[in-house]
Amino acid sequence: MPERYDHFINGQSVAPLEGEYFESTNPATLETLYSAARGTAADVDAAVQAAGQAFHDPRWRDLSPTKRGHLLRRLGDLVGEHAEELARMESQDNGKLLREMRGQLTTLPEYLYYYAGLADKVQGSQIPTSSVQMLNYTQREALGVVGAITPWNSPLTLTTSKLSPALAAGNTLVIKPSEYTSRTVLRLAELATEAGFPDGVINVVTGYGTEAGAPLVDHPGIAKISFTGSTATGSAIAASAASRFIGCTLELGGKSPNIVFEDADVSNAAMGVIAGIFAAAGQTCIAGSRVFAHRSIYEELLEKVAERARSIVIGDPMLETTELGPLAFAAQQEKVNSYVELGVSEGATVLTGGGRPDVELPGYFYAPTVLTGVNNCMRVTREEIFGPVAAIMPFDSEEEVLGLANDTDYGLAAGVWTQNLARAHRMARRLEAGTVWVNTYRAMSPMSPRQGFKNSGVGIEHGLESMNEYTRLKSVWINTDEGPV
Ligand code: NAD
Repeated sequence: MPERYDHFINGQSVAPLEGEYFESTNPATLETLYSAARGTAADVDAAVQAAGQAFHDPRWRDLSPTKRGHLLRRLGDLVGEHAEELARMESQDNGKLLREMRGQLTTLPEYLYYYAGLADKVQGSQIPTSSVQMLNYTQREALGVVGAITPWNSPLTLTTSKLSPALAAGNTLVIKPSEYTSRTVLRLAELATEAGFPDGVINVVTGYGTEAGAPLVDHPGIAKISFTGSTATGSAIAASAASRFIGCTLELGGKSPNIVFEDADVSNAAMGVIAGIFAAAGQTCIAGSRVFAHRSIYEELLEKVAERARSIVIGDPMLETTELGPLAFAAQQEKVNSYVELGVSEGATVLTGGGRPDVELPGYFYAPTVLTGVNNCMRVTREEIFGPVAAIMPFDSEEEVLGLANDTDYGLAAGVWTQNLARAHRMARRLEAGTVWVNTYRAMSPMSPRQGFKNSGVGIEHGLESMNEYTRLKSVWINTDEGPV
C-alpha cells in the first residue's frame, strides 16, 4: 500500500474534505510512489482561512523582522540537514538526476539565508515634500495571504523562491504544488513548522490545477498570486487577478536562443549548448532550445553537439553515472515526440535522437534530439517543447541573429558565445530577454533578479527587487504644526 499524504493546513496534516486522493508515479520505474489529497475549493477555503488568521495573529504579525529572519535561517539549516532525503524524493517524483538534485539541495539553503538577511532591511524613506510642516514618510508592509502555485520541474527551488521573500516580508502562504510533485513541498512545510513558524503561516493544498489551483487564484482571501508554470495557465491567472485588482508575479515559459559566434571557443560553446538544452531532459523554462551557430562554425558545432548527444548516458536518475533521466510523465513524452514528428513534417531532419532510447527501465525516456534543416518560423522553433530537443540553425551576421533571436513571443533567457568583449555587451544590451548569459548558460543565484520579458512573465523573482513583489508601499503624512492646516 503506497504512502498517503494529506494537505498541510494550520500546522497539521488534514484529510481532503471530499475524501479523494490521487496517485503519483515514479517516471523512471512507473511504480506508484504515493497518493496525495485531491484538493477542492473547500480545502482551499480552509487553508486560506487558516493563513488569514495566522496573518493577523500577534504571534506572527508582531514578530520582529529580525526574528522572521531567524526562522528562515533555521529553516535553511533544516533543509540542509534533510538535503539527501529531499533530493531523493524529488528525483523519484519528477525523474530529475539525483546528482543534479544533490547539487540543487546544497544551494537551496542559500535562498532561505539570503532572504533571512533581507527580512529586516525592508525600509521606507522620508520624503522632503514642499510642505515643510508635513512629515511624510513611506513604509513597506506585508500584503496578506499569498497564493503560490508551482510546476513539477523544480518544485523545491521554485517554491523556496516564492516562500522565502513572502515570509521575510511578513506574509502568510497557501501553496498549491504541481499534482506530479506534491510531497517535497509538503515536507518543506513540515520542516518550516519544525523551524518554529507559527501554525497557519505556511499551508499546502495538493491536487489538480482546475480543482485546487483555480479556486486558490479566485479566492477572495488571497492578496497576491505568485505563479510559475506555463504561459497558457499564467494568462488565465493574470485575467482573474486583474479582475480583482490583486497583484501577480508570473514566471512562465520560454524559447530561449543560444547564439554561437564564429569567434567563440567552439568546444566550450558546444558544452554550453548541451547543458542548455539537455539538462533536466530539457524540462527547464530556460532551456536553450533555439541554437544559432555562425555559418563558418555551424558544421563543427553541429558535429560536437551531436557526438556528445549520442554519448549521453540515459537511464536510472538515481545512479551517479546517469546523465539523462526520464521525462516527468506520459503526456510529456507524447508531447515531445509529437513535436519532433511535427518538425519532420515541416521539413526538419533528425540528426540524432528522436523517439525512446533503448533503456531497460520502463519509464518515459526520450533520446537527446538534434534537429537541423529548421528555420525560425516553424512551430518547433516558436513553441515551447519542454523536452530534450535542440533546433540548430545557421546565421551569417550579428544583425541577422539578433533579429532571429528576438523574433519570438518569449523573452526569458538568452546565451551568447563570443570572445569579443564589445560584441558581448552589444548583444546583452539588445537581446530581449530577462537574463543574458555570456560564455556560460544556466548560471543562477538567489541574489540575482530574474524576470521574464514578453510572454515569459510579469514581475521579478530573486534579488533585492523581489521583496517589492511581496510588500505594498504606504505613504504617511504627519502634520507637525500645532494649529489647524
Ligand atoms: P502548468 O501551467 O500546467 O502548471 C503549473 C501549476 O499550475 C501546477 O501546479 C498546476 O496544477 C497549476 N494549474 C494548472 N491549471 C491551473 C489553473 N487553471 N488555475 C490555477 N492553477 C493551475 O505548468 P507545468 O506543466 O506544471 O510546468 C511547466 C511550465 O512551467 C513550462 O511552461 C515552463 O517553462 C514553466 N516554468 C517556468 C519557470 C520560470 O521561472 N519562468 C520555471 C519553471 C517552469
